Amino acid sequence: MIKKSFSGSTKKRFAFKKRKLFKKKVCYFCAKKIKEIDYKDVLLFRKNITDRGKILSQRISGACAKHQRCLSKAIKRARIVGLLPFSSA
Ligand SMILES: [Zn+2]
Repeated sequence: MIKKSFSGSTKKRFAFKKRKLFKKKVCYFCAKKIKEIDYKDVLLFRKNITDRGKILSQRISGACAKHQRCLSKAIKRARIVGLLPFSSA
């Protein structure tokens, strides 16, 4: 749109401009070539859970789909064993 129409639909344009350009995060586990995530590796989970014990979303943690799945399974397993809290609210 090259039309000079500054009046009217400026709000929509700003909405598009506000979208930030994120740097594409590299999956931590892919970078380290970790194939399987061990549920006993609690220190590894510290980066991928909140201080309340919730699992971080893929967008925030930057893990790829495959590793995010492995991670969530491992964290849930660790919770059952008792290494991580279910929720510490
Ligand atoms: Zn990965």
